[in-house]
Amino acid sequence: MRIGRTLPPAAAPIGWKSLFSGISAVFSGESERNRFEDELKEYFGKSHCFLVSSGKAALTLILRALKEQHPERDEVLIPAYTCYSVPSAIVRAGLKVKLCDTAADSFDFDFEKLEPLLKSNKLLCVVPTHLFGLPADVKRLQGMIDDPEVTIVEDAAQAMGGEWQGEKLGILADVGFFSLGRGKAFSTVEGGIILTGDNRLAEQLEKQLEDLPDYPLLGVFKLFFYTVVLNVLLHPMLFWIPKGLPFLKLGETVFDPDFEMKKMSLFQAGLSKNWVEKIQLFRRVRQKNIRELIPLLDVKELKQFLEQCNSIPDLIRFPVEMPDEREKEEFLDIANQRGLGVAIAYPSAINGIVELTSMFMGEKYPLAEKRSERLVTLPVHLFVTNQDQVLLVELLSKPNSVEKGECQ
Ligand SMILES: *Cc1c(COP(=O)(O)O)cnc(C)c1O
Repeated sequence: MRIGRTLPPAAAPIGWKSLFSGISAVFSGESERNRFEDELKEYFGKSHCFLVSSGKAALTLILRALKEQHPERDEVLIPAYTCYSVPSAIVRAGLKVKLCDTAADSFDFDFEKLEPLLKSNKLLCVVPTHLFGLPADVKRLQGMIDDPEVTIVEDAAQAMGGEWQGEKLGILADVGFFSLGRGKAFSTVEGGIILTGDNRLAEQLEKQLEDLPDYPLLGVFKLFFYTVVLNVLLHPMLFWIPKGLPFLKLGETVFDPDFEMKKMSLFQAGLSKNWVEKIQLFRRVRQKNIRELIPLLDVKELKQFLEQCNSIPDLIRFPVEMPDEREKEEFLDIANQRGLGVAIAYPSAINGIVELTSMFMGEKYPLAEKRSERLVTLPVHLFVTNQDQVLLVELLSKPNSVEKGECQ
């Protein structure tokens, strides 16, 4: 275990002022939740907004609402390389997970492979995903779907505040959601936001939301406690403490359809105060770090974005594919010994999740699988210094160093 300066892989600190806003929100009734909802509706220009306890709860609610509308359909099409929360929500909603392999030059769907999959008359919805905040091509997907019964659900869990060609992510499709979990672009410890302009869907969502319980008092107290702990321990000088405690399972992604679903608490709504300013600040810092990394590290997944957009992508973590699994492990080891905040993203493609393998009957998703074996992410958040970046790039760019030569 490392003792000493250690970067977290991602960080969107909540801060003490927001903690205070959270506490006062608990005593001011509905007003803070209404404020957050109204601000979101105005900022994103959508008529309906729903606040829940997590991104996966948001997705589950959307899926349940769609299922009510189209009871004869049960397939949800997602990228084969994504967060395990996504299949967790699909299973929770009683629907079937369908996969499409990811493209070589983005984390988006491989559109050629997607085409035949869109033809199924059981298809309920497709979930384009802005993985790490890198925009998926929602417009192209819209152009490919001619069945009016198929809904596009935009997974902007990692992309709150991001943009694509001047348009805000999260509102490009029929309905979209954000996560406010730890390690996302903006955090209230946990939380989820649904945005839609579809009145009929909103009516269904409203009903679904009413059925969710509130946080119990103990739950709110836990959130309060967690906020305090995060405010202290997310700092690089102290992050080695939580990182060294395996039972905290920091950064581990798990498949678990039995997660709790609740309405967002007043405390969380209070924590969100000044979210626009915070999102903009976090983004500015990340983009500065990303701008420095892009010319030094040739990331093929970013190429398409850089060609199409005259801007720096707003990533919450910077993805780098290693030449093979062994080099990935070596790099992770060395980087972790130095506390550099390097992490893997997802340990397997979705078809590799043990509980789900029977759903895919041995089908292969080669690019998604390759990424799960080789991808690491570099931190780009506000605690990352110039020196950290220099070290990271140095470690990455000497694959034939003496150190590694000896192991062969
Ligand atoms: C985090 C995440 C989710 C789920 O959000 P939670 O708030 O963690 O439930 C969904 N999709 C993607 C791509 C995510 O990264």
